[in-house]
Amino acid sequence: MGHTHHDDHHHDHDHDHDHSELSETALRVRALESILTEKGLVDPAALDLIVETYETRVGPRNGARVVARAWSDPAYLERLRRDATAAIAELGYTGRQGEHIVAVENTADEHNLVVCTLCSCYPWSVLGLPPVWYKSPPYRSRAVIDPRGVLAEFGLTLASDTRIRVWDSTAEVRYLVIPRRPSGTQGWSEEQLADLVTRDSMIGTGLARDPAEAAA
Ligand code: FE
Repeated sequence: MGHTHHDDHHHDHDHDHDHSELSETALRVRALESILTEKGLVDPAALDLIVETYETRVGPRNGARVVARAWSDPAYLERLRRDATAAIAELGYTGRQGEHIVAVENTADEHNLVVCTLCSCYPWSVLGLPPVWYKSPPYRSRAVIDPRGVLAEFGLTLASDTRIRVWDSTAEVRYLVIPRRPSGTQGWSEEQLADLVTRDSMIGTGLARDPAEAAA
């Protein structure tokens, strides 16, 4: 599905970041979509809906379960800190060969934000397909230069003394943000907690949902 360019690039090596393969894939997909639409075989709105569903619902549910388990089970959180790839695999979510996931935890003093400055490396096994903005040049460049400004555009204003750490993903290492557990969730089940964990909260462009809003 057009993500195969990730398999053979290595950000930590000196390399030519050749995007021609991706553009060709994108062009082919566009050509196919046009033909199928012209022939009345697909409805572009339905395609958008499917992509949207995978971006916002199906994929990120995996990550949400990881976060909810980490919030609920201190031993699991410890394993996640030590070896996130293995801890995530415990729940049945595995990536491709050579792909390691590192969990980065938000605290009262520190907020984590994930980007791929070179292209769109993303922890698919836990988050599914990356959103369009994640792949956009403005996000990729500005997340590093002005993370606070980027967060503000996402509607997230952190206390001025909160440190922001920006993690640049690579083909080998992908990051999963563990957002802070919202207060007022004592005794909640993992399933209930998982409903509070949004995709954006696991990228760092958002926080976990407020339980009061979630109940509404
Ligand atoms: Fe990348």
